[in-house]
Amino acid sequence: MKAALLEKINGPLTVGDVQLTDLLFGQVLVKVLVSGICGAQLQEIAGNKGNAKFVPHLLGHEGCGIVEATGVGVTNVKKGDKVIMHWRKGDGIESDFPSYVFNGKVIKSGKITTFNEYSIVSENRITPVPEDTPNEFCALLGCGLSTALGTINDEANVKFGESVMIIGAGGLGLNLVRAATLASAHPIISVDIYDHKKEMAESLGAHLYINAATHNIQNELQKKFGMREVDVIVETSGSKQALENSLPLLSGSGRYIMIGQPRPGESVELLNANHLFGGEGKMIKATQGGRFSPSRDIPRYVKLYKAGILNIDNIITHRVKLDKINDAIELVRKGQASRILIEM
Ligand SMILES: [Zn+2]
Repeated sequence: MKAALLEKINGPLTVGDVQLTDLLFGQVLVKVLVSGICGAQLQEIAGNKGNAKFVPHLLGHEGCGIVEATGVGVTNVKKGDKVIMHWRKGDGIESDFPSYVFNGKVIKSGKITTFNEYSIVSENRITPVPEDTPNEFCALLGCGLSTALGTINDEANVKFGESVMIIGAGGLGLNLVRAATLASAHPIISVDIYDHKKEMAESLGAHLYINAATHNIQNELQKKFGMREVDVIVETSGSKQALENSLPLLSGSGRYIMIGQPRPGESVELLNANHLFGGEGKMIKATQGGRFSPSRDIPRYVKLYKAGILNIDNIITHRVKLDKINDAIELVRKGQASRILIEM
């Protein structure tokens, strides 16, 4: 089968031929239909996820697929089930690491991978959904969309009418804008460093878009809404400068949620740290996937989607074949796409 592999840190992915191995206890073979590309994969390509010693390895952690076969012990899914593929743990067995064969050598992979036509996954990294759930929606729910919904609803616990500022208008940032509209946040402010992101952010529900490369955030907030502080700030870029500059804008009851990760070893300074003690005392939280709990959350999200309340229109900007994955990664890197899907 065809798979995209990381052979060399910072190199392009190799689209090559990889062989499957026999399923172990608690493993499931999934035919991947659609995969998303997430910022985390850019971090892996750069070797920032502690993965450098494991190359060559497979990649990808959000997808939609069909169960082809089940290993011993698997009870949550059966052959033919449509499943959402996610990196957060859900119900089921936590299996051993899967193995594949590449160029005659056995390689280990993470417990879920999605940049491949077939994937051996741990039972607890897939959740079955009704057959009529659209593939693309399933792929988004694997990470980006569910992280956004969990961050707004669970991690930041956004109240009706609270102001929310989202830094970064990539795939995750735009999902967060959509999630903030579901929570009736107001105003919702989207921040990035490109003018071309404005239209997309506003079409998804942002009440104000700020290009932080050319405009001062605080001045823009003052001008448009007469406000100087924001109740909830979600930082998705992992940029030290973005974090340092935005933290002082947090309101007295504010919650600052970090999703974008600073580079390993990098330090971030708390400017005028005394302000953190203002109001009720402010909170900074580094989130792991917005506390997304697949088995608990996926049924609720599928129900909302089917009722027309959770709308993913406009979030997907590109669809590419696996052979073109390096072009797609380049688009994500340059900030020219929101969510890109790989069709297998
Ligand atoms: Zn992800």
